[in-house]
Amino acid sequence: MAFTLPALPYAFNALEPHIDARTMEIHHGKHHNAYVTNLNNALSGKPEENLSIEEICATISKHPMPVRNNGGGHYNHSLFWMIMAPNAGGAPAGALADAINAAFGNFEDFKTKFNTAATSRFGSGWAWLIKGADGKLAITSTPNQDNPLMDIAEVKGTPILGLDVWEHAYYLHYQNRRPDYCTAFWNVVNWNEVAKRFA
Ligand code: MN
Repeated sequence: MAFTLPALPYAFNALEPHIDARTMEIHHGKHHNAYVTNLNNALSGKPEENLSIEEICATISKHPMPVRNNGGGHYNHSLFWMIMAPNAGGAPAGALADAINAAFGNFEDFKTKFNTAATSRFGSGWAWLIKGADGKLAITSTPNQDNPLMDIAEVKGTPILGLDVWEHAYYLHYQNRRPDYCTAFWNVVNWNEVAKRFA
């Protein structure tokens, strides 16, 4: 069963001015599409091609590097499109807000800590908000297309929010200003979707 590129749940220009249409078009249609194609090629004809993407991530140390890079790329971007939305942003509510306050003190401190993880990731990678096996929230970051589901991750957990800090995610609009992109990201976070993943 081959993996497929999920449709973007909004228009390319829906996240403007925070993320520009051309970046979204290339990011989804070229970058994510290439991860899907390369993942399918790497798994083709192997018994592993029947695994879910989550199962592949959980056993990533047993897979060759092309599966790690492209499987991670597919999982990470599939999550990324969903946790953003137009007319979003604001603050989380309910149990998710309580968990954020419990783990990080308050929402502002959470955002600062998350952005520090995102801006200090050297080179390409991701910042994550994860739910650990103990049910508690934590912030982590991973290089390249690794993610916290992977058995090789330093800090493991279920990602409920992720921010792509590869240059391809922001360079057209923000050039070298990664911190500005990370700040703008909060305007497009779909907290309803993050809360669903937390629950
Ligand atoms: Mn990307």
